[in-house]
Amino acid sequence: MKIYNLKFTNDAERLCALAAISCHSTVDINELYNKLSSKDISNILRKVILSRHFSVLEHANFTFSITDVSRVLLAQLTRHRIATFSVQSQRYVKLDDTSTFVIPDSIKNNKLLLSKCKSFFKQASLLYDELVKKEIPIEDARYVMPNSLGTRIILTMNARELRHFFSLRCCNKTQYELRNIACKILKIVKQKTPLLFFKAGPNCINVNGKCCEYLSCGMPWKKNT
Ligand SMILES: Cc1cc2nc3c(=O)[nH]c(=O)nc-3n(C[C@H](O)[C@H](O)[C@H](O)COP(=O)(O)OP(=O)(O)OC[C@H]3O[C@@H](n4cnc5c(N)ncnc54)[C@H](O)[C@@H]3O)c2cc1C
Repeated sequence: MKIYNLKFTNDAERLCALAAISCHSTVDINELYNKLSSKDISNILRKVILSRHFSVLEHANFTFSITDVSRVLLAQLTRHRIATFSVQSQRYVKLDDTSTFVIPDSIKNNKLLLSKCKSFFKQASLLYDELVKKEIPIEDARYVMPNSLGTRIILTMNARELRHFFSLRCCNKTQYELRNIACKILKIVKQKTPLLFFKAGPNCINVNGKCCEYLSCGMPWKKNT
């Protein structure tokens, strides 16, 4: 799995702080924007988050490139409806030798099962090639490929949706690939814009949150990022 930031809103913390303060001010917007000190921005965003005035965080957008993830991951990630996705097409892009398969550690750690999986992936790829050679359209041939098949995604979320995403998907109980993505993105955005992601993380550490897994992990959130 590879993730990197393609594009973030410029000066996102100042922008969101401005949005919040503009709701309560008659001062010219440009003047307000330039007048905000770092301390003002920090105080305003802290208040925004503690009072759950989250809509102002929607002004900050974050776009990532995500590659070498499975279609298992894709199915779960795309349930987040406030995000925007662009996913490599299997109707237009023919699978070939560069196609990858994502294998969880639980399988990788068992040599015999790993080799069985690899031979199954090889068989699936051979069957796909045979179907395509026999003029089955690639959009139909893809039906023989497993969920582990790698894909690539361009993902955009605003800061409010990211916070929601982290609250659900940084949880210790989340499926490993999805949790890895969520934790990696949390680390990137926290470094870049810490004020927007103050108190962001899984529900168990979130000031107003509740555990959505009935505390079944039995432990406080473990940072493994
Ligand atoms: C622990 C866990 C278990 C899960 N188990 C299953 C499962 O067994 N089966 C399954 O199908 N899915 C399951 N899911 C996925 C889950 O149902 C959601 O699809 C996914 O987590 C996205 O959450 P969301 O809808 O809150 O987020 P988003 O789609 O990102 O939406 C963000 C928020 O916007 C608001 N919103 C968005 N769309 C609407 C709308 N149409 N109407 C009103 N408000 C809206 C809501 O407040 C929502 O929380 C599970 C998720 C978790 C975390």
